Amino acid sequence: MHAGLPSETQSVPAAMALVGVARRYTQGEGVIEVLKSADLVIEPGQSVALVAPSGTGKSTLLHLAGLLEHPDEGEVFIDGRATAKLSDAERTRIRRLHVGFVYQFHHLLPEFSALENVALPQMIRGLSRKAADDRAKELLSYLGLGHRLTHRPSELSGGEQQRVAIARALANAPRLLLADEPTGNLDPKTSDHVFGALTELVHATGVAAIIATHNLTLAAQMDRRVTLHEGTVVEME
Ligand code: ADP
Ligand code: MG
Repeated sequence: MHAGLPSETQSVPAAMALVGVARRYTQGEGVIEVLKSADLVIEPGQSVALVAPSGTGKSTLLHLAGLLEHPDEGEVFIDGRATAKLSDAERTRIRRLHVGFVYQFHHLLPEFSALENVALPQMIRGLSRKAADDRAKELLSYLGLGHRLTHRPSELSGGEQQRVAIARALANAPRLLLADEPTGNLDPKTSDHVFGALTELVHATGVAAIIATHNLTLAAQMDRRVTLHEGTVVEME
């Protein structure tokens, strides 16, 4: 940092940016062009709902944004850094450091407690058991699960399992949270509750987030809404 330069004047890179991203899949004889030229910039701390019908490419977009897939064309920036030409090892490193995922199904480790499921990713990253447990407790308590720390996933309700998955995704304080229909598997009332908790935590932690959902009421709680149209990202409203 230059001496005397106020931090406000320094430009802050976008948390995630897709620039001219194309992604196609070959299926039998044909090629499906899921994304043709997708552009999307997510500012640090900004929450964005991705609302589009099934099969239009929401999961594909999230996988590209989280460096789980390579674009066929274009570039994916994480925290201002171009990633397309990086090695798989480097992409994995960036993903582990900067990106958290929540899926429709919780994918928690069945043999471990709620607390351990949230502490483990932090210990893998090098935190002490104590520090990892403290943060896990803090996150789980924030999500209303302070009384469920020692329960295994099978001893939790669907909504509780999903809240543990949200805590796990945020355990390592990522810059970017990617959630793929995180409440799609829950009944409407539980879905509202879990989505509310997710929204609160996103705003409280200041993580940038892209949340794919079919629920327009829930999408209205995000800072911004986008949809997919013929392989491009379009702002809604
Ligand atoms: P959404 O999440 O919006 O339902 P997806 O991103 O999962 O959409 O899929 C978009 C399209 O791409 C669908 O037509 C799907 O069948 C196709 N697709 C996704 N992944 C693959 C793949 N690995 N191989 C072939 N086709 C795929
Ligand atoms: Mg999907």
